[in-house]
Amino acid sequence: MSHVSADPVRRPIVVACLAIACLASSAIFLFVGCQSVPMTERKQLLVMSEERENEMGLSAYQDVLKSEPVTKNEKYQEIVRRVGQRIAAVANRPDFKWEFNVIESETQNAFCLPGGKVAVYTGILPVCQDEAGLAVVMSHEVAHAIARHGGERMTYQTAQNLGKSAVGMVMQKQEEQKKQIVMTAYGAASQYGVILPYSRKHELEADHIGVMLMAKAGYDPSAAPGFWERFSGSKQGEAPMEFLSTHPSDAHRASALRELLPEAMQHYESSQQKYGMGEAIPQ
Ligand SMILES: [Zn+2]
Repeated sequence: MSHVSADPVRRPIVVACLAIACLASSAIFLFVGCQSVPMTERKQLLVMSEERENEMGLSAYQDVLKSEPVTKNEKYQEIVRRVGQRIAAVANRPDFKWEFNVIESETQNAFCLPGGKVAVYTGILPVCQDEAGLAVVMSHEVAHAIARHGGERMTYQTAQNLGKSAVGMVMQKQEEQKKQIVMTAYGAASQYGVILPYSRKHELEADHIGVMLMAKAGYDPSAAPGFWERFSGSKQGEAPMEFLSTHPSDAHRASALRELLPEAMQHYESSQQKYGMGEAIPQ
């Protein structure tokens, strides 16, 4: 680990890095890696290997599709797959086995599990209004996955539990529990009601990466701030979903997105095909 520096901003990550390295030395099979987030280049620490995370993501996705009803609305499936494929084409993850499904539920939620397994709930479609609004949601979720935010949360949980013989926190649990941890970490455990909110830092980073992705995919990124403004007016009451548990206020994330628009517009201008706002989503 090369980032032992005097930079005070980095100190917490160095301490965590050392602590987890100590743990790793006593735990066979415990993977520890330091890497950078794509596009923002922020350094992060990860306790589970990406390969393992992707396996867990696939398995968790199959569970979700078994326990929640995939919509029979073919138009919804078609639009979500079309937008998803366009985002996937610019996500620079040829190793992901992309899959997109729409789940019939009033819940205003969406998620992307490691490995590119995406679900959108019908409840959020009216807020999206059109393909560009849907691209805001889906590229935000894809951003959480390619930035491995869930993996980072698993790492922090492990570090927090250092004093509690928690070497096994992630790695020594039974397969079923590991899968549950991955689902919780990536916001996909809706039916259990145990969503762990992403941090404000992760949310803003997913917005940042997401708006660049949607622009590269050919959707007008100026749709992004408007989506969050509409969303803030339509929130459901109690459901602890990924989209409802976000820390940054919607006004704050809308203004942060507006600051990113000039850069996003450059990506949009140089995208091979432009779809603007795309097709309207039938209500
Ligand atoms: Zn999010």
